[in-house]
Amino acid sequence: MYREKNDVRFDDYDAIVVGGGFSGVVVSRELAEHGKRVLIIEKKSEISGMMADYVDENGIIIHKYGPHVFMLNSDEVLAYLKQFCDLLPVTNYVHAFIDEKYVSIPANFYSLDTLYGEEKSKRLQEKMIALYGEGKEVHILTMMSSEDAEIRELADNLYDKIFVGYNAKMWGLKPEELDPSIPGRLPIRISYNDKNCKKKYELIPTKGYKDLFYSIVDSPNIDILLDTKAMDVIGIEGEHVKIEGNNYSGAVIYTAPLDELFSYEYGELPYRALYFEIDVFRGDREAPSAVTTYPMNFDKVRTTDMVELLDQKIDGYVANVSEYPGAYNKESKIFNVPAYPVLNEGSSAIIERYKKKADTINNFYYVGRLAEFKYFDMEASIESALRCSARILKGETKADV
Ligand SMILES: Cc1cc2nc3c(=O)[nH]c(=O)nc-3n(C[C@H](O)[C@H](O)[C@H](O)COP(=O)(O)OP(=O)(O)OC[C@H]3O[C@@H](n4cnc5c(N)ncnc54)[C@H](O)[C@@H]3O)c2cc1C
Repeated sequence: MYREKNDVRFDDYDAIVVGGGFSGVVVSRELAEHGKRVLIIEKKSEISGMMADYVDENGIIIHKYGPHVFMLNSDEVLAYLKQFCDLLPVTNYVHAFIDEKYVSIPANFYSLDTLYGEEKSKRLQEKMIALYGEGKEVHILTMMSSEDAEIRELADNLYDKIFVGYNAKMWGLKPEELDPSIPGRLPIRISYNDKNCKKKYELIPTKGYKDLFYSIVDSPNIDILLDTKAMDVIGIEGEHVKIEGNNYSGAVIYTAPLDELFSYEYGELPYRALYFEIDVFRGDREAPSAVTTYPMNFDKVRTTDMVELLDQKIDGYVANVSEYPGAYNKESKIFNVPAYPVLNEGSSAIIERYKKKADTINNFYYVGRLAEFKYFDMEASIESALRCSARILKGETKADV
């Protein structure tokens, strides 16, 4: 399955997939199932992209690039995953550390109890039920424009303490620069419902993501070339893909950033990056849940205890992964992995130009969170990768492989 660059004859493959993340391996497997010979080119020394995990010396599964939990609505995606791994249902809760207190989020009646104490919380709850209806979910902007002064004060407080600090830190912006439409997404629940996930299924692969990835690429039709940057092998000349200088007529499926492929011709795409600090120790977790966000103070935005998140039955250990945000810079020592695309007018214009250019290349397909420059959760990544494979296999708009 693994190949060295010197042994590889690129023309032996029907398709070359750049990037061994989720998008890349899903496309590879689909093509392999249809008899196509596929080579995955991955720049790191392992596949699994942002979903990479490992088992540490205490037997604890740790997610290297922050917590990953499947939150699914699609039964098709669930069925797809079940071919490759066993899945364990989990229920995750999240708290924000505010004013030295752990406040349940999304904001709900527990949050009010913690922030205001029983008496004021009860009064606010009654008002909220009367105004919006029990069990409902209200956008914070609706509450910020309430005629009731106490409800407005509550909403302003949640806005300042939960929304402003977190997003300013996450996106590297001053509070006044934050897009005013974003807080509309901050829901306030008129109930004690404190579950984080609103989708049908919340699941983790029982044996971890590495195992899942190896199960997906386990096909005689798939080979993998690690430690190889795409641009060391692939080049674009006009409307042709060249591999080591020669025209390549198979399909090239590209899951890495498009600006890099086109030598930043139209400018660099902006990303936020994360630095991950891993701290495993014997002891008890202070936070009430696996995930704690830090909207105020601290440089980090989030800490996740992997033992609790993955429901690992390992007593007496805490395995914290903390995330520190910064501007992505490919030259940076710590912020050199693009985590979240910064979507604004400027970046949309840039990515559209790259996509337009990529669309002129007949046997070239781009897919995934980097190449499409979109935030994709894992469910959306699978769906997008399966759509891409179907297009290639049908030869719909590009050359048949
Ligand atoms: C902190 C964080 C937490 C997340 N948590 C969740 C979660 O809980 N639930 C959820 O559903 N989703 C979550 N996601 C989203 C999830 O990580 C993505 O949906 C998934 O990783 C997308 O896979 P991908 O293959 O498109 O991209 P990636 O995983 O980034 O894979 C791209 C691959 O391409 C390789 N590559 C890049 N450039 C080159 C090059 N020039 N040459 C060769 N190879 C290259 C990279 O090394 C990488 O292996 C999270 C994302 C982040 C950042």
